[in-house]
Amino acid sequence: MAQLSDDCFAFGGPLMSVDEAQALIADRVPALAGEETAALLSATGRVLAGDLRAPLPLPPFFNSAVDGYAFRHADLAAAGETRLPVVARLQAGQVTAAIAPGTSIRIFTGAPMPEGADTVMMQEDAREESGAVLLAPGLKRGANCRPAGEDVAQGEVALTAGRRLLPPDIGLAAALGLTVLPVRRRVRVGVFSTGDELAEPGTPLGAARTYDSNRFTLLALLAGLPAEACDLGILPDEPEATADALTRAAATHDLLLTSGGVSTGEADHVKAAIQQGGSLVFWRLAIKPGRPAAMGVIGGTPVVGLPGNPVAAVVTFLHLARPLVLRLAGAEAEPLPRFPAEAGFSYRKKAGRREYVRVRLAATDGLPLAQKFAREGAGLLTSLTRSDALAELPEEVTQVAPGDRIRVLPFRAVF
Ligand code: AMP
Ligand code: MG
Repeated sequence: MAQLSDDCFAFGGPLMSVDEAQALIADRVPALAGEETAALLSATGRVLAGDLRAPLPLPPFFNSAVDGYAFRHADLAAAGETRLPVVARLQAGQVTAAIAPGTSIRIFTGAPMPEGADTVMMQEDAREESGAVLLAPGLKRGANCRPAGEDVAQGEVALTAGRRLLPPDIGLAAALGLTVLPVRRRVRVGVFSTGDELAEPGTPLGAARTYDSNRFTLLALLAGLPAEACDLGILPDEPEATADALTRAAATHDLLLTSGGVSTGEADHVKAAIQQGGSLVFWRLAIKPGRPAAMGVIGGTPVVGLPGNPVAAVVTFLHLARPLVLRLAGAEAEPLPRFPAEAGFSYRKKAGRREYVRVRLAATDGLPLAQKFAREGAGLLTSLTRSDALAELPEEVTQVAPGDRIRVLPFRAVF
């Protein structure tokens, strides 16, 4: 699985800015080799492996965009009504002979334009009586028709390599007659939790225990990315077990994620385990929540040690794990989507680190109003489930006042 050299990041400083960390990922992490084909309906969310050129034009033929009457524009009088006999009727899926001069054909949306016809009058603008149609003047040549290839020309690149396929992309591929798509292989991501206090949901809790939630959050987050997530369970707070497990898993995965055990406490062994098995790139990120976050490489496989507090784990996942997965998957760069909002709260922060505040967004006539979740603890799971966005307060900002313009990352867009 090795794809990186263990010293490929070669970074000396201990406190890494979010931008620096992301630049390292963008510059140093190559896409994994490996291509496969996916049936259309399994291709949603996968990364397209090559440019997709249209084997046919879309639409494939010149056709009517409305229900109405097809005719030759040359037959339309410049002033006053034109009366043309209606000589045929053409529904979608049918073909007919060329149109004779001075006649019209009743036509329906999607039916091919009869040869010679170049314009369609909508039925709402025409009047049919005694086998003829009365057409109002003033319609432009080509009105209400769709030329072949107006959507995609034959041979044009319809979808570009590196695109993470969205549902409409699947429809476009189907419209081009395709049944399978070339996609990059998924990134194999191993996910560990760490902590002697963690219990597996479904087992008795016991004294001083808490159920593991991070592993499930992380596996669920990975489900939205081009990843094959592997649940690697809970590691005890034990240095050798941690180092062994990471080194072994690095050999069979493309990326490892852990949560917890990454600060500087005596029971925090992830940092040392990365150093023991490979090399550590950084162990502190200038971000809140989430400062204790480590990144390193073991046996060529990148390893991210996410913090244990659930909110910090999510925030750092978005900034470290998500870009790593997208890089390894060969996806085109997709910065987290950020939108302007108006702060509905006051806040003070330290300069030099980026902060994410959980907010609820309320629609207004102008920018959405961001109301801060009342409490700040990075362990509060409900601060995520009862909010709907992260407000991003950049490094240089030291205070926010109501009415300030801020940027938010809506959960429905980033997850
Ligand atoms: P740590 O960084 O290991 O000291 O963890 C910080 C806090 O996050 C502690 O309260 C841990 O119990 C909690 N925590 C760590 N890992 C998890 C997890 N997988 N699920 C839920 N809480 C966790
Ligand atoms: Mg711990």
